[in-house]
Amino acid sequence: MKEKSKFSVDSKGFYGEYGGAFIPELLYPNVKELEENYLHIMKEEQFQKDFLALLKDYVGRPTPLYFAKRLSSKYGCKIYLKREDLNHTGAHKVNNTIGQILVAQKLGKKRIIAETGAGQHGVATATACALMGLECIVYMGEVDIARQAPNVARMKMLGAKVIAATSGSKTLKDATNEAIRDWINNPTDTYYIIGSVVGPHPYPDMVARFQSVISQEMKQQLLTQTGNELPSCIIACIGGGSNAAGAFYHFLDNEDVELVAVEASGKGIHSGESAATMVLGSDGIIHASKTKLMQTKDGQIIEPYSISAGLDYPGIGPLHAHLGESGRAKFVSATDDEALSAVRELCELEGIIPALESAHALAYLPKTSFNTNDTVVINLSGRGDKDLSTYINAFGYEQ
Ligand SMILES: *Cc1c(COP(=O)(O)O)cnc(C)c1O
Repeated sequence: MKEKSKFSVDSKGFYGEYGGAFIPELLYPNVKELEENYLHIMKEEQFQKDFLALLKDYVGRPTPLYFAKRLSSKYGCKIYLKREDLNHTGAHKVNNTIGQILVAQKLGKKRIIAETGAGQHGVATATACALMGLECIVYMGEVDIARQAPNVARMKMLGAKVIAATSGSKTLKDATNEAIRDWINNPTDTYYIIGSVVGPHPYPDMVARFQSVISQEMKQQLLTQTGNELPSCIIACIGGGSNAAGAFYHFLDNEDVELVAVEASGKGIHSGESAATMVLGSDGIIHASKTKLMQTKDGQIIEPYSISAGLDYPGIGPLHAHLGESGRAKFVSATDDEALSAVRELCELEGIIPALESAHALAYLPKTSFNTNDTVVINLSGRGDKDLSTYINAFGYEQ
């Protein structure tokens, strides 16, 4: 993407009519400090050197762009998987936490806080803090602590303190509320590492920039492997939208590249147990950002549901609300059952066990049709190790 694209955030922090920083006054100094500094910190030569060196030698980038031959022959097109599952800690989240921990250091912060849903962002933050020797506190919903036990253990092994959020649905939204509360109470020494393209400006833009390494690599890899840097279509799952933002970023201005965002529709879009924000949501403010969110007529947030803890969020990043409203990206959804079928299919056809979140992107394949010459890139955001107990239950592997 060019430095300024029609999908870049504007000077007030908006994408079209979405975004901004609707923060309580007490948070103003923290957000202002970050807003005034993030771009020039990120542009410093030394910062870029440090960031890229860690992505290469610590995270393991570039991640491969893998031609999935058997999946391709099943769906009659050329399917490539962008292997974010091969990153250190098992998902794309680490691209962003490594970037933000370097920003926190530049700002002289000593105490790091984060929210987490499935625990992937918590693990990636705890990892970055261990690497840099910084104190780490992770807020996590009580329900998620119970269903993501291995990731809770990982965070503790890495030296993080995990604090349970016990309000509301006791999931990601509630953990985010607790993290914001902590930040208000600790304005000077604490840096808040947000895990997706959500929250007040400048977070959505900063996180998208850190994750944009995904599409930057994709472009070069497509050119080398297919002779054309532009694919026909890119498919990514959407919770808050950071892996999708990273996978779409450098293709946003190439309108011939179809962008498909797959939300979680849980037990069915209209079942009352869903997280398909773009279909069910309306305009409002969540976590300091104007965007689409699932809410009642009175503005009460509707508790979301998905089998996948990483997609179980009632909002969506403001960039995606804009991409959806403007028609630049196509929003679709996949149910729990469709995602589970996609997990099985990828295991059987390609020998890869995907994360439940990523399986929602794969689940779009049977719902559409491509031409034989179409190049389709699916962003495989993470690996399935964390979801094994769900898979054991769903597929009946217990003895
Ligand atoms: C957290 C997570 C997601 C969802 O978050 P986004 O910000 O929408 O990318 C998707 N996949 C995996 C593997 C995750 O850990």
